[in-house]
Parts: sequence; structure tokens; C-alpha cells
Amino acid sequence: MPPEKRWTMRSLRRLAAVLQTVIIGGLPFLKVHGESALRFDVSTLRLHVFGCTLWMQEFFLVLLVLIFFTLLALFVTLVFGRVWCGWLCPQTVLSDFTSFMDRLRGRGPVFTATAYLATFLLSAVVATSLIGYFVSPYEFLPALFRGGTGADTRGCWIVVTLGIFLNYAFLRHKWCATACPYAKLQSVLFDKSTLIIEMDPGRAAECIDCEKCEKVCPTGVSIRRGMDAACINCAECIDACSGVMGRFNRKGLIRYAFGAGGEGKVLRQNFFAMGSLVLLFFGLFLYFVLARTGVDVTVLPHAMGPRLTREGKIINAYVLAVKNMRDHPVELEVTVEKFDDSLVQSLTAPVRLEAEKADKVPLFVRVEKRTGMQGSRRITITLEDVPGKIRIVKEANFVIPDEL
Ligand code: SF4
Ligand code: SF4
Repeated sequence: MPPEKRWTMRSLRRLAAVLQTVIIGGLPFLKVHGESALRFDVSTLRLHVFGCTLWMQEFFLVLLVLIFFTLLALFVTLVFGRVWCGWLCPQTVLSDFTSFMDRLRGRGPVFTATAYLATFLLSAVVATSLIGYFVSPYEFLPALFRGGTGADTRGCWIVVTLGIFLNYAFLRHKWCATACPYAKLQSVLFDKSTLIIEMDPGRAAECIDCEKCEKVCPTGVSIRRGMDAACINCAECIDACSGVMGRFNRKGLIRYAFGAGGEGKVLRQNFFAMGSLVLLFFGLFLYFVLARTGVDVTVLPHAMGPRLTREGKIINAYVLAVKNMRDHPVELEVTVEKFDDSLVQSLTAPVRLEAEKADKVPLFVRVEKRTGMQGSRRITITLEDVPGKIRIVKEANFVIPDEL
């Protein structure tokens, strides 16, 4: 019978790496509603996210997303340990893709030069994809080939390419074991139940000291001696030991385990505390995205100060700075809520704005002066579109002048 084919950790890791590379490398090229699926456009200072465009005024949403992803990373680390490092971190993925460097270097000048050249070309491709997160790749690439890119963009591309090349040509996995700040932070986040890679303590006596697990380790860890901060959870040692022990029809001695000796609990207090925080920020983000009107309004003071007319009417003037961040025109009616039982008249035409345009519209609020009226009031200004999908409520100060 032919030997049963099975997925090794390495093949699963390769699959995850390819998927991740296609997604990360392809997002700026994928178009949704005519824009990159994900790009912070530096020329317009707008963030395009899967067909939705966020303007600078809405960057608190980006902040919420960043907090959400930070908490998610902490949660994943708490539960699954350094799974990010071994399976998804671009440093590991691209070090694996350029593993030919380790094999070809030292085999003579031709092989060495080929390895460096291939790494350099790969670095240029990665840099192009990264630049695509800030400049449209459909504009940047043709301009690059024509030699017509701006000096800033070209300079960034060259610097990023060189940085990536130096990293993958010389630093490689040494970065993970020595300099990576996230790696240092992770050990603080571990608890007694975090997923780790360990040698099964109950079967240590079966080890035949072949040292295969140490030879394949990219960060030079001896997992047999216990957990090591330099271990990136790449699972190469699991495959190596499985191969060795498989010859004796035994399971490998190295494994993934929740907590030392597999005695940890996945559903524990820390899991629920951190998980709740992640859900809270995700919920906040969803709430603000769904409540987003796509129209920004700021009430500014008008050059004309508050005044009392001979007919006993108080007039306050304002400027409405309105920005339409939607991809279609809007028309908004402006109303002002009455106060002190006085008849309040808002004198302004409906605000009409084309897609992605901004305008400033004067608003005059006229109120009949009554006895005892003095000081100032807060007034409520409402801007609403006719279908009733947009409703923006703003407050402003209404000043009551003493004398004519
Ligand atoms: S000890 Fe094993 S899992 Fe950890 S880095 Fe080395 S080979 Fe990878
Ligand atoms: S590969 Fe397995 S058997 Fe060989 S030294 Fe490592 S733990 Fe022992």
C-alpha cells in the first residue's frame, strides 16, 4: 500500500503564507467602486476601504479600527501564543519565500549573485505593493515604467525596496529572535494556558537525540530544553520529529499544547476579559459606521454679530460649513427648533451639494424678543434630506442683545 499522504505543518504554513501574500499583495490592485479595496490615498488624505471612503474628519473610525486590531492581536497572542509569528508575519513569510538565500549562498559566486538578484527583484515587487497602499498602483506602475513618477514617490519606492532587500538578504529570522518588539511584548501576554510548542513531557524518554528538531529550527532554539523566547511557533520542529518518529511508527514527540504539558484551559478568565474588550471595540466601530451620514457640518460664527431690529426681532447669523463625503449629490433642509415659546425663523435656502464637494452657507435665525429675554440660549439646528436618510443635529449659541 502506498504511504498515506498527510498535511505537514510546513505545507499548511505554506498555504497560509500564499493566501496571505495574495490578499495583502492584491488588495491595492483590487477595485471596489472604482477605487482600491484598501488604500490611504496620500494626495487626497482619504482612506478607501472596500468601497467606502473615509475623509480626515472621520479618522476617529480609523482609530477605532486600529484599537480593535491591536486588542485582537493581544487576544490572539493570549490564546494562540506566537502563532502570528510562525504563520502570518510578513517577516517569516518572506524569509520562507527567500529561503533559497540560505541554500545558494556559499555555493560559488554565480549562485550567490543569483540569490541576491532574485531577492532584490522580490523586494522591488513587495515595495511596489506597499506603495500601492498609498498611491494608486494603476497610476504608479505605468508612471514607473515611463519614468514619470514624482521624485517623492520614486524615492520612497527605492528606499523601501532597499530596506526590504537588506532585511531579507541579511537579517531574516535573526530579526525575530533579537530585535522584533512584538516578540518581546508577547512573552508578557502569555499565561499558563497559552498555546505553545513543546516536547511532550510524558514521552521525553523516547527521544533518540537525533537533533533534527534543532537543525531545522530557523531561530536556533532547542525546544527539547523547554520554551524559549526566540521560538516563533513555526512548527518546523514538529514536522522534523514526526518524520523521525514516523520511521518507528510512533507519533512525533513535539506538539502544540495549551499550557505546559497540555494542562491549560482555553476558556478561562483572561480569555473572556480580553475577548469582551475585542467585541466591545468591534461593536463601537460597527455602530459608528452604521450611524455615519457621509455629510459633515460645522457651525461657524458669521461676521455679522447678534442684533436687535427696530421691530423687536433678534437676529443671529451663522455660517454652515457643509461637506458632502458621499459619492452622490445631497439636498438638505435646514430648520431651527423654537425656544422660550418664541417664533423662530431660520432664513436660508436648502443646502445643495454635489458629490465630494464642500460649501459654506449663511444661516440667519430670527426670534421675536419677549420681556425678560436676556443672556443667551442654546439653539438646535437640524439638517435633513427629503428621503429622511440623513439627519444632522448641531447646537449653537444664540445671543440676546440688551439694547437696540
Ligand atoms: S523551536 Fe520549533 S517552532 Fe520554535 S522556532 Fe524552532 S523550529 Fe520553529
Ligand atoms: S527530532 Fe524528536 S527525536 Fe530527534 S532530537 Fe528532536 S525531539 Fe528527539
